[in-house]
Amino acid sequence: MKGFVFHGPGQASWEDVPDPAIKEPTDAIVKVGVVTICGTDLHILKGDVPEVRPGTVLGHEAVGEIVEVGGDVRSVRPGDRVLISCITSCGRCRFCRDASYGQCRGGGGWILGHLIDGTQAEYVRVPYADLSVYPLPGTLRSEDAVLLADIFPTSYEVGVLNGHVRPGDTVAVVGAGPIGLAAIATARLFSPKRIIAVDLAPARLEAARQLGADAVADVHEAPGQLVADLTDGLGADVVIEAVGVPESFELCTRMVRPGGHVANIGVHGRPATLHLEDLWIKNVTITTGLVDTYSTPALLRMASAGRLPTGQLVTHTFPLEHMEEAYDVFSRAAETGALKVLLGGERHEVAVPAA
Ligand SMILES: [Zn+2]
Ligand SMILES: [Zn+2]
Repeated sequence: MKGFVFHGPGQASWEDVPDPAIKEPTDAIVKVGVVTICGTDLHILKGDVPEVRPGTVLGHEAVGEIVEVGGDVRSVRPGDRVLISCITSCGRCRFCRDASYGQCRGGGGWILGHLIDGTQAEYVRVPYADLSVYPLPGTLRSEDAVLLADIFPTSYEVGVLNGHVRPGDTVAVVGAGPIGLAAIATARLFSPKRIIAVDLAPARLEAARQLGADAVADVHEAPGQLVADLTDGLGADVVIEAVGVPESFELCTRMVRPGGHVANIGVHGRPATLHLEDLWIKNVTITTGLVDTYSTPALLRMASAGRLPTGQLVTHTFPLEHMEEAYDVFSRAAETGALKVLLGGERHEVAVPAA
């Protein structure tokens, strides 16, 4: 089969790789239908995630069809269409028993496209299939469901729920890429008073408005002042960091009100400064995290009822074998307007990106 193989920083290609096979009786083999590229994949390609060994097939977000299961798999069968979660769960370790699947110590956690071969391929082996794939209802398109593999649970759990967004809150979201946009969409589930989006790119701020941001600010136009002006000088109740650079984290800690929450989602590759000399007196709560995906069943119910704007996050679609072109478009998001790029599925035309 073909897969997108990492060969070290700056080197990867769509090439022949061995077909995956069942190794454990809890495994399933899935024929990949729709797959996406994640910002995390770009971090891997830059060399920011050194645990990824050369030779690994990348990717941790997909929808596909079960083609084979090991003898101990009970909840899915060949022919089932399933969502492959970015997080694999053994179901038995102390973290899995606590629904903290992202921290699994039993061989799960974030392993696909990280520690084992991932989903950017024609077929993928999914360990612990009973707990790590979700059968999909016929009413939910694969192109929508695939956004629930990672970005929706990540934004919702690590941003909105960790940040304790409540009705009437002012929520600031720094970073309006796919994760920040999904945070805006899921923050709205709680009827906040207003959502303020901050980004560099005009196209992303426009996307934020379309997804429900009430105010937007270019990062160069004193977003902290905008937040202060809109909150009588107090700051936002909840600030969600969805970029992953020191400057954006530090901006978030300046925009939060006393007693408020800063929920960091961004994947940071460099140290950020924590200004405890200013923050110690403000009763601020700062949270971090890798997604656990405990919210995936609830998000699937919302998505199949049409309650999540999944389609609005997809700007480009490609045939699966155009993986290298898709990476190129996704990695030049500022020029191409890319939010989420999908590969596979039914539609193969390239959507017109936002101006
Ligand atoms: Zn991802
Ligand atoms: Zn576990």
